[in-house]
Amino acid sequence: MTNKIPVGIIGATGAVGQRFIALLADHPWFEITDLLASERSAGQRYGDVVRWVLSDPLPSRVADMTVSRADQGQAWARVLFSALPASEARVLEPLFASQGHYIFSNASAFRMEEDVPLVITEVNPEHLDMIPVQQQRRGWDGFIVCNANCTSTHLIGALHPLHVAFGVEKVFVATLQAASGAGYPGIPSMDLIDNVVPHSYGEEEKVETEPLKIMGELKDGRVHFADMTITAHCHRVPVLDGHTEAVSVALAWEASKDDILDAFRSYRRLPQELGLPSAPDPAVVVVDGMHRPQPRLDRMAGQGMATVVGRIRPCKLLDWRFSLLGHNTIRGAAGGSILNAELMAYWGRL
Ligand code: NAP
Repeated sequence: MTNKIPVGIIGATGAVGQRFIALLADHPWFEITDLLASERSAGQRYGDVVRWVLSDPLPSRVADMTVSRADQGQAWARVLFSALPASEARVLEPLFASQGHYIFSNASAFRMEEDVPLVITEVNPEHLDMIPVQQQRRGWDGFIVCNANCTSTHLIGALHPLHVAFGVEKVFVATLQAASGAGYPGIPSMDLIDNVVPHSYGEEEKVETEPLKIMGELKDGRVHFADMTITAHCHRVPVLDGHTEAVSVALAWEASKDDILDAFRSYRRLPQELGLPSAPDPAVVVVDGMHRPQPRLDRMAGQGMATVVGRIRPCKLLDWRFSLLGHNTIRGAAGGSILNAELMAYWGRL
């Protein structure tokens, strides 16, 4: 064993769980010690039970580990990354937190609860100061910190530089979301190939509300939501990885195209300043040309951790419009959680 921080993954066999494994396999600060999943997988060798869907190879050390049952709320590592479905997360994450575990969660179950930090490391690291409030209120030694929905994450990745510089007042967004965003096996192939499926299951509500909490202000132990109106139209498309979003924004202060480009290009925040291991630098990648960004060409920008923007042009309804793209299971899920944990580790709070 090295002097790295031991970490576990709950929901280790799923689409996001696999991303956690790929991103943590050679992590300089964290070492995978626990893999947890349902009764279906527990007690078996990970390599035998997982249906590995990533092009990155499954690390042999992890393949040889035995999967544990998550429903007993026990793990060796204090730090746990959760990739559980929301319904299971609602029950199991508090169980682990009450046992003193530090949960970094991808699930939506607790994102909007008043005492749970919903954090994008570049945007609102100060919301992590809510952790003691949560611990006191719930009587936990551990805690739950959430990261945003994959679509919200990249929308905020592009909105925040503009909000800081010019004040974003209104947002219209239409999404084209990748198949992997629905987990494995996700939508049946015969429903998705040659098709576009309007999104149900609360996706639009998440995209319309999570940004307001994340870009809100922490005052007196609670978050005051940002004063911004977002309307979202979400769709699933037959792309494997990488969500595309067509965005129009109304700004409080006038801005030229050069001002907007400058806001994106100069956006450097705490993770970049500290040089955290998973921080993309730049956090926002601006691509030229009216045919970019595209999922196949641009989703791995910043090792899948950056938000890519392009096609910036005036909007006839609001002020400006642009396209954005981001990797949904890297920055939009596992990578976002890991970056939050890296900041907590940097601060000596893990
Ligand atoms: P998934 O592929 O369906 O994987 C679910 C995982 O949870 C599996 O490891 C499964 O283990 C485990 N699990 C299911 N029921 C369980 C139970 N009762 N007890 C313990 N473990 C259980 O889902 P996913 O796409 O990875 O998503 C995971 C979470 O991340 C979801 O909350 C999702 O909304 C969120 N998220 C996903 C994305 C994305 O792009 N996919 C992005 C952001 C957030 P078994 O194999 O043993 O059943």
